[in-house]
Amino acid sequence: MKLTYKPYTLKLKHPFTIANYSRRETPIVLTEIEYAGDVGYGEASLPQYLGETQESVIKFLSKVDLTQFKDPMDINNILNYVDSIEECNNAAKASLDIALHDIAGKLMGIPLYKFFGLKKPTEMFTSYTIGIDSNETINKKIDEASGYKYYKIKLGAGNDKEIIETIRNKTDSDLFVDVNQGWNDKNYALDMIEWLSERNVIFVEQPLPKENVDDIAWLNEKSRIPIIADEAVIRLIDIVSAKDIYSGINIKLMKSTGLREALAMINKAKDLGLKIMLGCMTETSCAVTAAAHLSSLVDWLDLDGPLLIKNDIFKGLSYSNGKIILQNLPGIGIEKK
Ligand code: MG
Repeated sequence: MKLTYKPYTLKLKHPFTIANYSRRETPIVLTEIEYAGDVGYGEASLPQYLGETQESVIKFLSKVDLTQFKDPMDINNILNYVDSIEECNNAAKASLDIALHDIAGKLMGIPLYKFFGLKKPTEMFTSYTIGIDSNETINKKIDEASGYKYYKIKLGAGNDKEIIETIRNKTDSDLFVDVNQGWNDKNYALDMIEWLSERNVIFVEQPLPKENVDDIAWLNEKSRIPIIADEAVIRLIDIVSAKDIYSGINIKLMKSTGLREALAMINKAKDLGLKIMLGCMTETSCAVTAAAHLSSLVDWLDLDGPLLIKNDIFKGLSYSNGKIILQNLPGIGIEKK
């Protein structure tokens, strides 16, 4: 097995603004694992707030020695080894997990959903993300992505009602709201959630800082719609403590260290009666298509990464008004453009 990797920068179609920062591009690292003529593709996406950089990913990957493994189908042992090299580095680990699963599917000649014993996702719709922006830009974004079943709206910059009213003037579609820890007062949060729940908002993600555990639990108890953890739940180990605080969790491959642990998180969350959203960072069609193979298991999808970038190097899943359509190819089912 030969591992190669290189840095790449994703350019956003629209500068992306949330409560605490804005950005125009996202650094990623692309990985490839080659075995017996097949290539598995992987990717580490590195939004600033998670703390990994292209340098840290490359440093981590340089420590990975796959020559000790003879068979890429030995995925569990390989990933246990990768996880033991160093703590954290979750996106770097995900890039290897994704590439290994891609190659395993290719060696078996089956798409990943079959590899995991799952059915092909058929009627699963992703949301389309609308960042915090001027009314004019928000209107433009909705026009560009009209007809979506769900939009994911970022709030928390002080003009929350104005943003929702702008969107409600354009579309009746259901909304997901993501505050990215941007509210601070629990009473304001509860008033806002009441108001949002009367405007076809399905759930609210991470309304308060993740450290405000008692306030979030209070809010979740009182709220008519589910409160979903994103920043508060990174890996499998975080789920048990989330169950008494939140109604659901947002699972992302870049947090979970990849598909193997994302699947374990889905199973654990189901056992605990938590709702499940499967999300993504700013990513190419590589990681997003990989995640889409798990989508028949979850309640909601936010897998719009490829829709928000200008320079995807892969062709993978496609979208029909937000409905996820996987190609009939082995592994992740992506091709280089
Ligand atoms: Mg979020």
